[in-house]
Amino acid sequence: MSEVRHNWTKEEILEIYNKPLMELLYEAATIHRLHHEANEVQVSTLLSIKTGGCSEDCGYCPQAARYHTDIEGNDLMPVQQVKAQALRAKASGSSRVCMGASWRNVKDGPEFDEVLEMVRTINKLDMEVCCTLGMVTENQAKRLAEAGLYAYNHNLDSSEEYYKEVISTRGYQDRLDTIDNVRKTNVTVCSGGIIGMGESVEDRAGMLVALSSLNPQPESTPINALVAVEGTPLEDQKPVEIWDMIRMVATTRIVLPETQVRLSAGRTQMSQEGQAFCFFAGANSIFAGDKLLTTPNPDVNEDMKLFEKLGLKAMKPFTKKVQPKSVSAEESEYKPLGENPKWTRPDHKIERNEEAKQKAKEIRAAEKAE
Ligand code: SF4
Repeated sequence: MSEVRHNWTKEEILEIYNKPLMELLYEAATIHRLHHEANEVQVSTLLSIKTGGCSEDCGYCPQAARYHTDIEGNDLMPVQQVKAQALRAKASGSSRVCMGASWRNVKDGPEFDEVLEMVRTINKLDMEVCCTLGMVTENQAKRLAEAGLYAYNHNLDSSEEYYKEVISTRGYQDRLDTIDNVRKTNVTVCSGGIIGMGESVEDRAGMLVALSSLNPQPESTPINALVAVEGTPLEDQKPVEIWDMIRMVATTRIVLPETQVRLSAGRTQMSQEGQAFCFFAGANSIFAGDKLLTTPNPDVNEDMKLFEKLGLKAMKPFTKKVQPKSVSAEESEYKPLGENPKWTRPDHKIERNEEAKQKAKEIRAAEKAE
């Protein structure tokens, strides 16, 4: 019941997802205990090192330049500021810092060099460093690994079928290719998705088929509940029901037994009892800090109070894998190749994305006329 399998079918996963809840919870909690320390939760802090102005059309994302949302864009954060924020995160119990930049893909150049310096700086603070920077080539992944990166996040978001209903500016295969590039290094893979985007339960199962078929399976899998932000194409989606979240977490735990399952966006919409159910169902990682890139997140003190109530402990860094070494820029074996990779741009029409883009144009024109 607890072996790692890469050949799950959608039907098998649906059968698990739809089990009577108590049975599902019991099975997930049992598998959780076989593979993990049941009372330990890994705490990550997500830091937006470059916010907004993104060229992509992800229907859930307030950072896409084509939609009109009220987030404030920022250029790349200076390394010293990143260091200060990482130290603060460490002091409040985080073992990992995940740095997010609103880029379609990484480009060789001064900004990427800065990010590599951020990776070295945080690794030297004895914290796990994760990046989510968009698509990366093999050489870029190797440069990140050499700088001391611990994990790279690249979400599959949903099933391959439903992905096309949410994003038109890149393809599912691009996601898989980036994960493949990361796998050519010793950097661990963090990949998961979002529920509540209007997808069916079959799509949720389809995403888990894709994640479980990766060999090795991702070391961590964030399960996000959509935070519907005004101005984005998905602004009218109803909040995810807690029972859906619990079922998704439990099913993920069963299908990805060794993976750290992370409660990510949407935690502010969840009660403490709901979160406790998720921990019981196998979630063993959270994002801490009052913001997740641009959307709200519970206060870290509230999280620590909840941990105390539930008898949970924050996991120490490098519990699962040894700390990577950081090679300095001067001693680097991998140089920028000035690559211009052909990531795809299917650009099919997604009606609600087009509507949100049109609405944004009208709002901007009206603002200009004022
Ligand atoms: S999710 Fe990432 S790639 Fe998509 S629009 Fe937002 S920042 Fe850009």
